[in-house]
Parts: sequence; structure tokens; C-alpha cells
Amino acid sequence: MKRFDRDGRLIIPLMRRKKHTKQAEETKVRYVLTEAYCPKGCTIIDHEHKINGEPGLRIKFKRYDSEGEFVLSAIEGDFDKIILSGELKEGVKDELYCPHCGVMFKKLINCECSEDADMVLLGLTPELDLNNAIAFCNVTGCTNGASIRSGDIIRHVRLWGQF
Ligand SMILES: [Zn+2]
Ligand SMILES: [Zn+2]
Repeated sequence: MKRFDRDGRLIIPLMRRKKHTKQAEETKVRYVLTEAYCPKGCTIIDHEHKINGEPGLRIKFKRYDSEGEFVLSAIEGDFDKIILSGELKEGVKDELYCPHCGVMFKKLINCECSEDADMVLLGLTPELDLNNAIAFCNVTGCTNGASIRSGDIIRHVRLWGQF
């Protein structure tokens, strides 16, 4: 049932995961990231913490009143997280860092959900390549852009005339 596409991303069929929604017919497959890197090239795939059957993406977070680590689902459109330490707050932004070397993840653009929200980039190659990356918002609970390739986001921004 599983296979890889050209970018090395695992494709899983949706099957029965969304059988109760109308979208089941619209989206036949979802991407699963099988490789993800910090800006310095550390792999952040966490095989010890699986979310919905797939190894997650381990990320360190910091803000004025808390810091810790969480694991984010590597499945496109899936916003499940495992909080390993610290506390995330709904609607609150966190700065995101590599859990291994501590470097901050790069930010692509502002997220429209709030004034200071950022779309944070995760590279799918050890050397950051904007055409081979995904971006997601660093505000807890915001579902903008999660697991959308940055190229798509850049195109949208150009359409809005902000880039
Ligand atoms: Zn790193
Ligand atoms: Zn957002």
C-alpha cells in the first residue's frame, strides 16, 4: 500500500481515515515526510515517536513562559502532536528550534492568522532548498500551510502581491 514519490516522500492512501467526511472522495492520497532537516542538516525525523503510524518530526520550542519539545505528525494535513516536555498554548506563537543542534528554523513569510505569526520552513534535504521544503505556522492551533511545499506558498504570496 505504500510507495515513494519522486521527492522521496512516502505516499499513503487515505483509506478509511476520513470516511466520515465529505472530503474522502476529493483527496485520495496524502504525503508523509520521510526526511526532514534543520537548517544545519540534522535529521529531525523521530522514529521513537510515531503519530498515526508514521515517525514524527521532532521540534524544540521556546517562548517567554515555556520551553520544551514536541513531535509533529509527518502526515500531510494531520496536525496531531505529541508534547514531550513543556506546554503549548492554543493561539500562542513559539519560536522553533532544532532539538539536536539548537539552531532556529528559518521563517518564510508572515502567517495571516495573527500579527507576529510566521510560516516556519522545514527542509526535506540536508541543505535547505526552498523548492524542496514545507512550511507551517508557528502558532499552536493554526492549520495554515502545514505540510504545504513552500513553492506553493510562494506562488500564493505572489498572487496576493506581497512578495
Ligand atoms: Zn540541527
Ligand atoms: Zn498561522
